[in-house]
Amino acid sequence: MATYDLIVIGAGPVGENVADRAAQGGLSVAVVEQELVGGSCSFWACIPSKALLRSANALQHAHSVDGAKQAITGELDVPATLARRNWFVNDWQDGGDVDWLESVGIDLYRGHGRITGERRVLVNGSDGPSELEARHAVAVCTGSASLIPDIPGMVDARPWTNREATSAQHAPSSLAIFGGGAVAAELATAYAGFGTTVTVLARSGMLGRMEPFAGEAVERGLRALGVDIRTPVAVVGVERLADGVHLSLGDGTTIIAEELLVGAGRVPRTGDLGLESVGIKGGDWLDVDETLRVKGHDWLYAVGDANNRVLQTHQGKYQARAAGDVIAARAKGQHVDDLPWGTHVATADHAAVPHVVFSDPQVAVVGLTADQARKAGKRVRVVDYDLSSVSGAELHADGYAGQARMVVDEDREVVLGVTLVGREVAELLHAATIAVVGEVPIHRLWHAVPAFPTMSELWLRLLEGFGRPGPAIATTAR
Ligand SMILES: Cc1cc2nc3c(=O)[nH]c(=O)nc-3n(C[C@H](O)[C@H](O)[C@H](O)COP(=O)(O)OP(=O)(O)OC[C@H]3O[C@@H](n4cnc5c(N)ncnc54)[C@H](O)[C@@H]3O)c2cc1C
Repeated sequence: MATYDLIVIGAGPVGENVADRAAQGGLSVAVVEQELVGGSCSFWACIPSKALLRSANALQHAHSVDGAKQAITGELDVPATLARRNWFVNDWQDGGDVDWLESVGIDLYRGHGRITGERRVLVNGSDGPSELEARHAVAVCTGSASLIPDIPGMVDARPWTNREATSAQHAPSSLAIFGGGAVAAELATAYAGFGTTVTVLARSGMLGRMEPFAGEAVERGLRALGVDIRTPVAVVGVERLADGVHLSLGDGTTIIAEELLVGAGRVPRTGDLGLESVGIKGGDWLDVDETLRVKGHDWLYAVGDANNRVLQTHQGKYQARAAGDVIAARAKGQHVDDLPWGTHVATADHAAVPHVVFSDPQVAVVGLTADQARKAGKRVRVVDYDLSSVSGAELHADGYAGQARMVVDEDREVVLGVTLVGREVAELLHAATIAVVGEVPIHRLWHAVPAFPTMSELWLRLLEGFGRPGPAIATTAR
């Protein structure tokens, strides 16, 4: 039996970061990985999906700038785009990440990890089993998998999940996508760019959890790419036949596509983890406290997708930094900084999560929508601005279209949330995130001067829309 201070199960982006922080804190760490070190994000999610859509995106953007568009004489090179994606995922080889683990002194155990008791993990590897014991903690960072909807015939139809869609070596002639969230929007954009006939089947519109204008703009963008969007729609049966996948819809019609992609939610990968051995039901998301510790188990942590707080890599890595540090602090008997916004908690998970949907137009959001803020009991003022009126946007592309919304807490005069829609708005998001996390008062934001002519001038317009706070407010707030 090998003993470590910390055992991390799952070496996705989150597990890697938990391990790294704990090792930097002086702990001995083992990570257990059953597939590729780097996890879904590197090989079957964030990176390949963006690589798949970027080339067509760049071409479309060039088409919208007079002078550049006249220079475009050809079509998208699909094999070259797929080869570029292959390069980004290193042909699904994880040597770089494995070398990095070694370089920072973290031991890797390849195989399926299963908890066999308190602080004990059994790894079933190709070289036989290894028994590990943790002196201080075990961190479950096993991520999530695609939800396969419970629709008659769905499983037998062998639908694509994000794994097949991001690793495909050719573009199918037609693709039906079940779902209306970010995964559906991005992969519809990618495959439409390849010339695939794409049909999106969304139960209730696109990007339903965001400001309504965001989903509407994405729907318009997808339609402009030739995507057929059916919403609201019910899929009542699925069957794979010789000519493709047949989807029976609630209205009695049928859609036939070469492939079907399911992109309508995620399920936890906690089903085969031996959690029952420590009194936890397997197969569910793991419920954690603010320091990412599984409630009721002082040695067990769940970080990243596995805890279902926010299913995003950057947020999982943020949790991982807190978790790795707090595991090291507790192991050494040091002070735990677990007050809101402290070092050892993931406070931003609740009201300051940034999220970009890389569709065309992009959607970039942070914090609360107007509706969410009102439901949270805030007195809210909404400021909308047409992004196409900002000089930086006009210069960026001819006929630039975009929209921005700032949600302000009227009582405290701080920004609660921002939604941006338009080309390249992703790069505007971090300023909004800082405003939300820092709770920067509006009167101080007036002094953050955006350079001219950048798209960031949007901030000036939003502040003008809100109105300059009067001297009385400014004086007392200072
Ligand atoms: C198509 C798509 C696009 C996305 N794009 C983005 C994006 O642009 N930006 C973003 O922030 N997020 C994006 N996400 C979300 C992001 O991929 C996840 O939030 C992120 O991968 C979660 O990281 P994780 O480390 O928690 O889990 P994972 O990356 O899933 O890693 C978990 C690891 O644990 C391993 N594992 C599981 N069980 C065991 C076991 N019992 N023993 C050993 N190993 C085990 C797995 O093999 C895996 O390597 C996207 C998701 C999808 C589906």
